[in-house]
Amino acid sequence: MQRLLQSPAINATGVLLHTNLGRAPYALQQPAHASTVEFDVDRGERGSRQRGVNALISRLVGTEAAMVVNNNAAAVLLVLAAVAAGRGVTVSRGESVEIGGGFRVPEVLAQSGARLIDVGTTNRTRLSDYRQAIQSTTADVAAVLKVHPSNYRVTGFTETTSTAQLATLDVPLIVDIGSGLIDETCPWLPGPPPAWLDGEPGARQTIAEGADVITFSGDKLFGGPQAGIIAGRAQIVTACMQHPLARALRPGGHILAAVEAVAMSYLRRSVTVDLPFWQMASATLDDVWQRAAAIAPTWARVVGSEAVAGAGSVPGLNIASAAIELPGDHLAALRSRPLPIIARVRDAATVLDLRSVLPTDDAEVAVALAALTP
Ligand SMILES: *Cc1c(COP(=O)(O)O)cnc(C)c1O
Repeated sequence: MQRLLQSPAINATGVLLHTNLGRAPYALQQPAHASTVEFDVDRGERGSRQRGVNALISRLVGTEAAMVVNNNAAAVLLVLAAVAAGRGVTVSRGESVEIGGGFRVPEVLAQSGARLIDVGTTNRTRLSDYRQAIQSTTADVAAVLKVHPSNYRVTGFTETTSTAQLATLDVPLIVDIGSGLIDETCPWLPGPPPAWLDGEPGARQTIAEGADVITFSGDKLFGGPQAGIIAGRAQIVTACMQHPLARALRPGGHILAAVEAVAMSYLRRSVTVDLPFWQMASATLDDVWQRAAAIAPTWARVVGSEAVAGAGSVPGLNIASAAIELPGDHLAALRSRPLPIIARVRDAATVLDLRSVLPTDDAEVAVALAALTP
């Protein structure tokens, strides 16, 4: 039987933000009602569909303004088109990256109508490299673009220019932070920020260091639905809202309502309760281990495992986890269930990492495992 339609699934891969499995799990709930998506109820007239996210994201990140588009690729495209079409944008050669699934910085930049000005080298770029480009009479630099190289790390003889340094240049600074970690200090977690977030730039910190505008995905570490968020100076965000591409890149009311709800969760500090991604990421190892032990059949073993954030966030850093290991390859049987379970095979054993499984799916996984034979 071929399955044509997309369906819910259980992610037992240990990759919390699995791009093929929809990245952050998030329930979109809205009744089949008319909604006030673009209606100002207080005044009884047309309003802006961005007003809610504008107010909430601005407060959350510490910016003058914010808006939401369909994904981060669209956010970068729109900012570049609004700020720099027909002019130059400097990008470090070390940040001219490809981020899975065809997001290539030089290509997005070309589509925006801006002209790429490469500065520095693959491994080292200094502030003086940017300054030289800005001062050159032919370059006509409209903005500096800094891109977080989400999915890889350059190590060894390297030098990058920080957001704080770039903010001293007198052209607008655009920073694509990628994953949407709202605050590096993770005030929504009970303890200090976890080691697996090491080096991931926070939205609040990037703005505080002087970025004029930032962009990030809604469905990575932010923990919401697929969306792209633009936050920064009012003048830049307004230029984005008024650009003809804004209409083509705008999300529908369901997504906007969901992004509003996610932002509210952060403001209330209830993300570890409300957002499935943060629920999974913040579970203690003990918890995950006990869940695995509770549902493993007698012929399976519970083993230590290493989960990852995924979606190109924080490469090379693992989240301690626990997995159920079954001798043999049972992937096809697990996938063939009405609610497919996606696992991995390692060393001739099937491995189900429980950190990426929602606790509410444990019973379903238990039934599936009980139906397998060694
Ligand atoms: C993930 C990512 C993107 C692409 O974001 P989408 O939401 O998938 O369009 C762009 N830039 C960076 C730095 C990223 O990490």
